[in-house]
Amino acid sequence: MSRYSALEVLKGGLTGQKHWQRAWRDPEPKQEYDAIIIGGGGHGLATAYYLAKLHGMSRIAVCEKGYLGGGNVGRNTTIVRSNYMLEDNAHFYEHGMKLWEELSQDINFNVMFSQRGIINLAHSDAQMDAFARRGNAMRLNGIDAELLTRDQVKEHLPMLDYSGKARFPVYGGLQQPRGGTARHDAVAWGYARAADMLGVDILQNCEVTGFDIHDGKVQGIQTTRGAIKSGKVGIAVAGNTSRVCALAGLNRLPIESHKLQAMVSEPLKPFIDTVCTFGAGHFYVSQSDKGGLVFGGDLDGYNSYAQRGNLPMVAHVLQCGMALMPAIGRIRLLRHWAGVMDMSMDGSPIISTTPVKGLYLNGGWCYGGFKATPASGWCFAHTVAQDRPHRLNEAFTLDRFERGYLIDEKGVGPIPALH
Ligand SMILES: Cc1cc2nc3c(=O)[nH]c(=O)nc-3n(C[C@H](O)[C@H](O)[C@H](O)COP(=O)(O)OP(=O)(O)OC[C@H]3O[C@@H](n4cnc5c(N)ncnc54)[C@H](O)[C@@H]3O)c2cc1C
Repeated sequence: MSRYSALEVLKGGLTGQKHWQRAWRDPEPKQEYDAIIIGGGGHGLATAYYLAKLHGMSRIAVCEKGYLGGGNVGRNTTIVRSNYMLEDNAHFYEHGMKLWEELSQDINFNVMFSQRGIINLAHSDAQMDAFARRGNAMRLNGIDAELLTRDQVKEHLPMLDYSGKARFPVYGGLQQPRGGTARHDAVAWGYARAADMLGVDILQNCEVTGFDIHDGKVQGIQTTRGAIKSGKVGIAVAGNTSRVCALAGLNRLPIESHKLQAMVSEPLKPFIDTVCTFGAGHFYVSQSDKGGLVFGGDLDGYNSYAQRGNLPMVAHVLQCGMALMPAIGRIRLLRHWAGVMDMSMDGSPIISTTPVKGLYLNGGWCYGGFKATPASGWCFAHTVAQDRPHRLNEAFTLDRFERGYLIDEKGVGPIPALH
């Protein structure tokens, strides 16, 4: 398979676009692999890519029960940021930000990473104080952060309600200029193609239905396409983490599955050129390259594995949007959809070995795992290959919940739906 390049595009233009090959192969499962990753979402595919690229493993498979991009990687609102305050999170997500900045070149696929910045709005003096604290912590960790006054916010976001009649007036905001968005499908497709080019077998329509575990050590998996042997199996199935782990006897995880919705408007002319989050309700907005306003909000509020949501949350998100920017009042909504979130007890992820030898867990991404895709795959690949975490993910172990070392960025306690 050839690399994508300007020359290839030119060649295609001159030859009727007939020379393009499939982006990745569709192989039959082999009997045995050096490592198997369960879940062909962003995290599973990134893990397989970095295992092959950085750890010299050649016989790797990714088992995906559906099609690539059918899970959360293709359903999210694509916000990328590293504006964390706690030390463990800050270093991990900033490592991810640096990988994002090189990603399109690295995997030879345009993931449309757009560093348009993100602005978190503040609506009270207390919120401004909290943002000053977070911004200072970020800067101490070498991460870009700017505290914006109300007038500076107005320069970036003139469409907000500054009339003096707003229910929640804007006081200012915290900006991360290097934050932004990426094209979610391209991230899945790009990692898949890059991994495939390094020999990784991507097995779609291959649901994992059981594990072969003997004497506390994993020997392989059972799938809808037959049994496959391997002494190393990584689980990266996001909202299905509890279900898949239960098949391996890990029955009580510090994770609850919730649903989160997103929605998109009809296409508009350029309206907003940054990512903006409301500080007085759960609402955030950006504009896609096709022109649609992409809105997100809070969880639906009950546990479920279903990839569909309900209308009350759509109404709530749009009410928040109207409170913030009444100008959107006559815009029509085109579509809304949901994904299943693996909400952890402290709001931080798990990238870890497990009590079963050779079985590794990547989960607990809550609703912020898209931005973590490169760093998560990078750290999980290290954990799977070396049988121990990297320095960047050594805090994100499964046993931290037993040890009481919680990484609670929001400080809301062990209530998964609040993180
Ligand atoms: C509406 C919405 C908005 C979001 N917005 C953002 C955002 O703006 N920024 C951000 O950072 N994050 C966001 N997220 C969160 C982010 O999308 C997820 O945290 C992240 O994508 C999860 O990792 P993944 O890509 O590997 O998951 P997925 O794409 O869900 O991959 C997991 C895969 O595992 C497969 N699987 C499950 N069970 C099995 C099995 N038994 N056998 C084989 N395969 C199996 C599934 O089919 C799925 O394809 C959002 C999520 C949603 C739903």
